[in-house]
Amino acid sequence: MSYFNKNSSPSNLTRSSHYRVKGLVLKHRDMGESDRLVTVFTKEYGKLVFSVRGARKTKTKLGGHLEPLVYGDYLIIRGRSLDSVIQGQILVPFKTIKNDLKKMAESIYVADLVDHFLQDADPQPDMLDLTLAILTQQDELASNGDLIMRIFEIKLLEETGFSPALQRCADCGIEINPSRGQKYPFSAASGGLLCSECSLSHSNWVRSITGDTLLLMNYIRSNPVAKLTGLVIDGDWLSELESVSRWYISYIVDKPIEALVFLDQVRHSLKQ
Ligand SMILES: [Zn+2]
Repeated sequence: MSYFNKNSSPSNLTRSSHYRVKGLVLKHRDMGESDRLVTVFTKEYGKLVFSVRGARKTKTKLGGHLEPLVYGDYLIIRGRSLDSVIQGQILVPFKTIKNDLKKMAESIYVADLVDHFLQDADPQPDMLDLTLAILTQQDELASNGDLIMRIFEIKLLEETGFSPALQRCADCGIEINPSRGQKYPFSAASGGLLCSECSLSHSNWVRSITGDTLLLMNYIRSNPVAKLTGLVIDGDWLSELESVSRWYISYIVDKPIEALVFLDQVRHSLKQ
């Protein structure tokens, strides 16, 4: 399908009135009777919001091409206040994710977290690559979703410049070599580990973290996603990492992450 032929543009539209993007749909919400607003993490321009006319009418294909967690190729027409998607093609549907409730809830959490960390219209191609790599692992692997979420959180913090100090004091910079079986003070406000001296001057947003978890975080940070997702890691170890990551991310984001509520509900219901 050809979206745009520069030699035969309609007379009432100039070339610059259209543009094309490739992107991952992060979320959508209804607008008016039949339209939708979609938030797309585009490769070219970062996070953009588009309107989609008639997206909720059952006969239009376009709505399905703009469901959350679809990676697609879209033709956009510029509008006065909001640009609109007028054509779309699904490049990666992430079908397995959509047929599995836990994977779906986890992937919506991924999309929500990305949405929280991204500024509007700020291109972040590496972050998009990371998000797609994570969703691909979710789509292709039979399980291990908990580990994949932990990998995503650590890599996302790294991509966005919030990676915590794990081998030095976040305040004074002195080197710290975490060892297994030991506990260390970790400050969300300072952004990482604290040496014993600096920890005396902090009380808010400080918690203790085991050397084991620090070593795991460091290992995840130093290795590519594809090498990490097959690891088998003890449940307690992953639980501490989850607790630390959630706590640290909640400090940075500073507002509720709605998808976490849904994810927790799904996990709870599957345990029963
Ligand atoms: Zn220090």
